[in-house]
Amino acid sequence: MPELPEIETIVRDLKTHIVGLSIDHIELRLPKMVKQPEGNFLTLLENNHFSKIRRRAKYLIFEINNSTNSMVVHLRMTGQMIYKRENNFLAGGHGTKEDLKTLPNKFSHIIFYFVDGSQLFFNDMRQFGYLEIADENRMQEIDVKLGVEPLEQEFTLEKFEKLLEKKKVNIKSFLLNQKFVVGLGNIYVDETLFDAEVLPNRPVNSLAKSEIKKIYKAIIRVLRQAVKERGTTFNDYRDANGNKGNFFNFLKVYGRSGKKCKRCKSNVLKKNKIAGRGTVYCRVCQK
Ligand SMILES: [Zn+2]
Repeated sequence: MPELPEIETIVRDLKTHIVGLSIDHIELRLPKMVKQPEGNFLTLLENNHFSKIRRRAKYLIFEINNSTNSMVVHLRMTGQMIYKRENNFLAGGHGTKEDLKTLPNKFSHIIFYFVDGSQLFFNDMRQFGYLEIADENRMQEIDVKLGVEPLEQEFTLEKFEKLLEKKKVNIKSFLLNQKFVVGLGNIYVDETLFDAEVLPNRPVNSLAKSEIKKIYKAIIRVLRQAVKERGTTFNDYRDANGNKGNFFNFLKVYGRSGKKCKRCKSNVLKKNKIAGRGTVYCRVCQK
């Protein structure tokens, strides 16, 4: 599942290409992928354009010109947004082995056709993702359920300490919970805790102030670097430009169980189920 850095990357890419670009028409191949009566969705968007594209947590939010509604995209497990202009592609979301050059494929459920001939595909193999037209109330509803954005100024050490107060769960469950801090999933939680030298199964109420500070700094450091490297992708996924999320090369624990720790260079990384997820860590470097 894409996490904050992957969503941030596709949002930045799409922003430079489709903000202000008029949508000629939309092909709704699988209407159930839109949570809004089909008519409204098409009326709102055809012959119109997106005025702004931004990210909130792991959602892509497309603000609609001349409307108080936004189109919210939830990629979930296997959703993808792929933008195609001639033979150039920008892709974000779940990795795939499908050839982008054969788009649309059987997983292309919604296609936006822009006036300049470029296209935006919403693909989803398992159909857990969806698009939603959200009015201001609905946007508010989505927003209040979500925690603090870790790369924004609002994420201060004081705020983080406050969120951790009186929590009894382990630190991995806490960081995965989007109610507290958004955008971290399995990859970046494991990387963050390795960076902070804290074991993922540590109960939150056992953490020393100095450890909390290390975790706080690690969240920001790991996410910033991942955004800079355009996220992490697996399955040898590349877009037609040959771009691949480069953070893959910087992973220190995720996907490395059974291999030697890159920090102590002696201990073999272990994998256990923690917070219901496969979790990789170093028993020597993390306390
Ligand atoms: Zn180690």
